[in-house]
Amino acid sequence: MRAAMDVDARVARGERPPLAGVPIALKDNICVGPDLNVPGDAVGYGGFTTCASKMLEKFASPYTATAAQRLIHAGAVIIGKTNLDEFAMGSSTENSAFGPTRNPWDLSRVPGGSSGGSAAAVAAGIVPAALGSDTGGSIRQPAGLCGVVGVKPTYGRVSRYGLVAFASSLDQIGPLTHNVTDAALVLEAICGHDEHDATSADKHVPRWSQLAEMPIERLTLGVPRQARSDSNHPEVARVFEEAISTFTSLGARIVDVEMPLIDHGIAAYYIVAPAEASSNLARFDGLRYGRSDRAAPGDDLFDVYCRNRSQGFGPEVKRRVMLGTHVLSSGYYDAYYTTALKVRRRILAEFSAAFVDLGCHCVLMPASPSPAFGIGEKGGDPLAMYLEDVYTVGVNLAGLPGMTIPAGFANSPKLPVGIQLVAPAFDEETMLRAARMFERASPGATARPPLTA
Ligand code: GLN
Repeated sequence: MRAAMDVDARVARGERPPLAGVPIALKDNICVGPDLNVPGDAVGYGGFTTCASKMLEKFASPYTATAAQRLIHAGAVIIGKTNLDEFAMGSSTENSAFGPTRNPWDLSRVPGGSSGGSAAAVAAGIVPAALGSDTGGSIRQPAGLCGVVGVKPTYGRVSRYGLVAFASSLDQIGPLTHNVTDAALVLEAICGHDEHDATSADKHVPRWSQLAEMPIERLTLGVPRQARSDSNHPEVARVFEEAISTFTSLGARIVDVEMPLIDHGIAAYYIVAPAEASSNLARFDGLRYGRSDRAAPGDDLFDVYCRNRSQGFGPEVKRRVMLGTHVLSSGYYDAYYTTALKVRRRILAEFSAAFVDLGCHCVLMPASPSPAFGIGEKGGDPLAMYLEDVYTVGVNLAGLPGMTIPAGFANSPKLPVGIQLVAPAFDEETMLRAARMFERASPGATARPPLTA
C-alpha cells in the first residue's frame, strides 16, 4: 500500500511512469532489500529471498536486484514473491522446500518450472505480470504449461545483479504476462546496461511495445525437423502444426531447417549448468546467508559445513552439485566440460545458419514436448524431467532471445500448449513482432482458466 501511495504521489506531481500502479510479483530468487523497507518492519518490504531452499529460509537480502529496482522506477508495485524449484533447478516447481505450486488449469498438475509460481500467478489472474528467470527454459516452459507469454531476453539484456546465481553464463531474468504487449512493456522497463553486472550489454533498448504492432512483411520462419519429432505428445504436435498453418495464412514462408544438435542440447546443458552451479553454490556453507545452524560440541569446520549442506539443500540441488563437481574434476574435465563447450559453440552455429544462410527471421519450435503433467508423475525420474527442456536449453547455450506464446489447447483434458520463437541475438524486436502477428490471428489461444473458489 505504501508503494502504491508513492506512485500516486509521483502521478500527482505530474510524472507518468509507464507501469504506474501495476502489481508485479517476483520469482523468489530475485533479491529485494531493506532499501525498500517499511519503517518498523524488521524483515522488510520484500521479506526473505529464499530461492525455495531451507538454506536461505531466513535470508534477508542487503540489496535490491537491478531488475526489481527498474520496475519500481517505472511505477510498478512489487506485491510479492513466487514459488520456484529450489535454486531454479527443475521443470515442475515440485523441488521447492516449501511445497509444490499447482497449475491453475488443473490443480492436480504441475505449472512447469522453475518459474512455476510466476507462471501460475499470472495465469490465475493474481497479477498481470511477474518476473521469472530462465537458465534452461524456466520462463518459457512454465509459460507454455500455464498458457501465458514468457520471454527470455538475449543474454546480457537484463542485469543479473541481485538474481541469485544458478549458472551465470546462462541465467537471464524476463517477464511472464498475459499478452505480447504487456511482456514488451515490462521488458522495456527492465532491460539496459548496469554497471553492477559486467555481462550486461550496453545496447539501446527499443520501444518494443510500439514496434510489436508492426507486422513483418515476408516473414520467414525456420522449423527444425527435430521440432516435429515423433516423441512430442500428439496434442502438442497437433497444436504446433496448427500454429504453422496460422503463420502460413499470415503470409509467412516456412523453411525446413536441420538442427541435429537439438538432440544433444540436453546433454551439453546438464554438464555446463551443474558445473557452474556447483561453483556458485559453494558459498552456501550454512553459516552465512541466514541459516544459523552452529557447530555442535566436538564438531570441526568440515563437520559443520557437511551437516549444514546436507540438511540445507534438497535432493535435486545435491544431485547438481555432485554432477558439477564430477564433470569439473581433473581427469574428467576435458571429456565432459570441454566437450560440452564445443557442443555449445556448434549449437550457436546451427541457429546462425538458420538466420544468416537461410534468411529466417525466427526459428519456430514447441515450447516443450508435452502439456502439463501430473504432480508426482516425473518426480522419481530425473532424466524424464530433464527431457522437458529439449526445446529450450539450446537457446540459453546460444545466448539468444526466445519466447513462448500461447498457441492453443490440448483436448481431454483441456490444457494450454505454447509455441516458441527464437531470434538472433539482441533482435527481440523481430521476435516480438512475429509473436504479436500470431497473437492477433489466434484470439482463442489466450483464454483464462476457469477458477472456482
Ligand atoms: N529445467 C532446467 C533445469 O532444471 C532449467 C531451469 C532454469 O531455467 N532455471 O536446470
